[in-house]
Amino acid sequence: MLSEIIAVGSELLTPYRQDTNSLFLTEQLNNLGVRVIFKTIVGDRRPHLVQAARQALERTDIVIVMGGLGPTEDDLTRESVASAIGVSIKRDTELLTTLYKRFAERRITMPENNAKQSDVIEGAEILLNAQGTAPGQWLDIVFGGHRKLLMLLPGPPAEMKAMFTNECLPRLRSILPERHIAYRVLKMALLPESQVDARLAPIYTRYKDVETTILAVTHPGEIQLHLLCAKPTQAVAQARVNELASKIEEEMDELIYSAQNETLEQIALYYLEMRGATLAVAESCTGGLLSQRLTSVSGSSRSFLGGAIVYSNALKTDFADVPEELIEEHGAVSAAVAEALANGIRRRTQATFGIGITGIAGPTGGSEEKPVGLVYIALSDGQRTDVVERRFTGDRERVRWWATQLALDMIRRKLM
Ligand code: AMP
Ligand code: MG
Repeated sequence: MLSEIIAVGSELLTPYRQDTNSLFLTEQLNNLGVRVIFKTIVGDRRPHLVQAARQALERTDIVIVMGGLGPTEDDLTRESVASAIGVSIKRDTELLTTLYKRFAERRITMPENNAKQSDVIEGAEILLNAQGTAPGQWLDIVFGGHRKLLMLLPGPPAEMKAMFTNECLPRLRSILPERHIAYRVLKMALLPESQVDARLAPIYTRYKDVETTILAVTHPGEIQLHLLCAKPTQAVAQARVNELASKIEEEMDELIYSAQNETLEQIALYYLEMRGATLAVAESCTGGLLSQRLTSVSGSSRSFLGGAIVYSNALKTDFADVPEELIEEHGAVSAAVAEALANGIRRRTQATFGIGITGIAGPTGGSEEKPVGLVYIALSDGQRTDVVERRFTGDRERVRWWATQLALDMIRRKLM
């Protein structure tokens, strides 16, 4: 079953207001096994509203129009939708009386405009608004020879949510075939989206009944794969999602760090704890971001000892025993210093593992030889030290995040 959501309101076409209602509705519809294939945002102009409603009815089975049910001149949803489906609107006397009563109870005279809110599209059922004055409308119609469900909901989020939950959901459930949803998230670190898609598209495109979305999330260096399947029973839906997930895990193998929606810091800590190991860090470039991420996980103190933020050369020497001569010879941003940081902090703290990070986060401080984005990360276990050199692109925040992402992934790979 396919659906379109139409958000009505000229304010939603300015930089100051966003359509957030459709996120709630999309989740609700997905849970019913309905896919949202279009979202339209349309201003308060009648011809545009008529056009949007027609188009939505032509291309989907379930259309939700929200906003524009108020009492003012620019609230045009009722008449526009009526015109789109070629029927008239009638003033509902019962609704009108209720409206008058509502105002009377509050000892206010109802403004003449408000009468508009008792206009009902021919053939529509009225949806009660528990939180406001604008009633919604429910239409079960034939349009272009096909059955269509059409809902008009108020714009204010609280009213929209209450009305959808109390009025629309039970109606939809009684009409739509029973559907159960299985959902899984697979996470990968440090891979480009295009590479993930190139490797996985041949696999997931064979599962037409599982909706697969590849998401590059807000923080760089992480790709999420969302798998969603709707079936008549939970067991069947879950089996389909699990089958695809295991095919994907087979292909990507250790590149997938979580199949249960954990964060990378949770995974790194999980492995440390499983091995009974501890970790300490000496951070230059990332200024504590790695420690912050690790300590954001509850219970991290069981394996994360702490560390030092060593920006100046003197502190690198004082707190992590990096020899002065080494810094002089190689420069603070070098593989040698990253290695010495990891070793030094490990020895100082008696941790099982030490991590050292040094780099140039930018935008200033780069040179021909050592450009912005150059980062060295070292992981020491006392026997050997692995050092990686990377050239990250992007702004300061991005470079620093990538660096912590790589550091966490180094721990994971070392211990998995
Ligand atoms: P309306 O029903 O058009 O009078 O909308 C009333 C108010 O609801 C607007 O001023 C917005 O603040 C809010 N609103 C309307 N549509 C949306 C939407 N799609 N997402 C979030 N808020 C909305
Ligand atoms: Mg409006």
